Amino acid sequence: MLEAFRPEPFTNFQDEQNRAAFQAALKKVEEELGKDYPLIIGGERITTEQKIVSVNPSKKAEVVGRVSKADQALAEKAIQTAARTFEEWKRVPAEARARYLFKVAALLRRRKHEFSAWLVKEAGKSWVEADADTAEAIDFLEYYGRDMIRLAQPQELTRLPGEDNEAFYIPLGVGIVIPPWNFPLAIMCGMTVSSIVTGNTVVLKPASATPVIAYKFMELLEEAGLPAGVVNYLPGSGAEVGDYLVEHPQTRFITFTGSRDVGLRINELAAKRSDKQKWIKRVVAEMGGKNAVIVDKEADLEAAAQGIVVSAFGFSGQKCSAGSRAIVLEEVYDRVLELVVEKTKQLKVGDVSNPDVFTGPVIDEAAQNKILEYIEIGKQEGRLLVGGEKGSDEGFFVQPTIFADVDPNARIAQEEIFGPVVAFIKAKDFDHALEIANNTEYGLTGSVYSRNRFNLEKAREEFYVGNLYFNRKSTGAIVGVHPFGGFNMSGTNAKTGDQDYLLNFLLKKAVSEVL
Ligand code: NAP
Repeated sequence: MLEAFRPEPFTNFQDEQNRAAFQAALKKVEEELGKDYPLIIGGERITTEQKIVSVNPSKKAEVVGRVSKADQALAEKAIQTAARTFEEWKRVPAEARARYLFKVAALLRRRKHEFSAWLVKEAGKSWVEADADTAEAIDFLEYYGRDMIRLAQPQELTRLPGEDNEAFYIPLGVGIVIPPWNFPLAIMCGMTVSSIVTGNTVVLKPASATPVIAYKFMELLEEAGLPAGVVNYLPGSGAEVGDYLVEHPQTRFITFTGSRDVGLRINELAAKRSDKQKWIKRVVAEMGGKNAVIVDKEADLEAAAQGIVVSAFGFSGQKCSAGSRAIVLEEVYDRVLELVVEKTKQLKVGDVSNPDVFTGPVIDEAAQNKILEYIEIGKQEGRLLVGGEKGSDEGFFVQPTIFADVDPNARIAQEEIFGPVVAFIKAKDFDHALEIANNTEYGLTGSVYSRNRFNLEKAREEFYVGNLYFNRKSTGAIVGVHPFGGFNMSGTNAKTGDQDYLLNFLLKKAVSEVL
């Protein structure tokens, strides 16, 4: 009998034994840095001339791995392989498909610190953030496995005399999985395994900044005995092979997580029917955010300040759920600002191999330059109180940065910066705070610190976001606990880690027989 789903616990790094185990995992990974990795199509390993070079964002001279890079011919081969494999994989019973996920979860749990250590090296995650990423990947495996078994049970229908009626789910076909680099294990894993546990086969194009961790995950799938060709690993530039994969007539669905602009482009291209295409392609697109933390005048200001700091600067603000706007009522504005400045000055910035570092690097040079450009814009739009500069040139660092007195319509209050930058905005009253919070094109997460029950209930109704949190940070959704996905330009609201999610990858068939 399968136990009920329970989220994977986080590692306590105050415990000396855990620290030592994590150090050992980092050492093991360090010994494996700089290797070459091939593509994997139908189980075949393919090496190309052109490579994606993955580097450690904390130490840019350190090469994490060199990964073969697909062109359109290899993209075609991957789609054909996935299409062929679909004919067999779709016949594997749901319970058997789920068991592959449980096996992968067990393997990943056994090597948890090792995978987290790869995240430290390749994505620049702090120990705590890396551990949470790996735990979430395990959760997706355990949760979607169970949920597929649930969906495979007989469906309840209204009985009609003289007829035998049945309805059941069947898979879609070949899917393209396009994950982001910021949760390069959890989101990549969740998007991939939800697609295959439902009976589809996929081409997985990992983000170019984090292809090695995706390769390591492919190895786990193989170790679990997943048949070749169910997942085809196709690293390559999104700009070069992305359109080809999306427009392909045999592509049945695209599951994407990433920026607004790329998501919109995929949605548009997928909507156009290509020659010989027999279906309307499905698109799941989970995109960006410009999330707000509201602080009411009746609130625990200490907790609110802590919540703002963690939401804004955890993983250097590179979470879709990051709180990049602090909207504070005028009565407590100065005090909250003062507390946040104080706490921010205490944050340690640097190489995340060190467990005491809270704010690590940003992902690459392009991200660093983009964030620094926004900081220049912010200097025109607000009062710079902390940060505003890059850090050591050994890696791609940006100091946690606070701008005060920002207009709600300023660019730094409207556009997703995806870095450690927070804009403070003053609100006249709670209604005004909600109006400012809702005044962006996004609607992903939001957080409200208040002791006023009336205001919390108002926010429950009026704050237009997919994930709303009261008296806690805006980040840190847990599978099965906080179904995750936003409104408006934050995406299709597919709600990962939820009972509705797998339906994105299924068709429902009804069969009636006259008796
Ligand atoms: P991105 O630049 O949009 O890239 C995401 C993925 O799309 C990558 O694999 C990328 O490949 C690929 N891609 C790029 N151009 C493409 C094209 N023309 N066709 C097909 N694929 C293409 O986003 P990112 O920088 O990786 O991730 C950060 C963004 O993701 C932020 O906006 C964040 O808010 C959002 N995000 C949202 C959620 C959510 O659940 N709502 C969760 C996490 C992140 P390359 O790497 O090769 O360019």
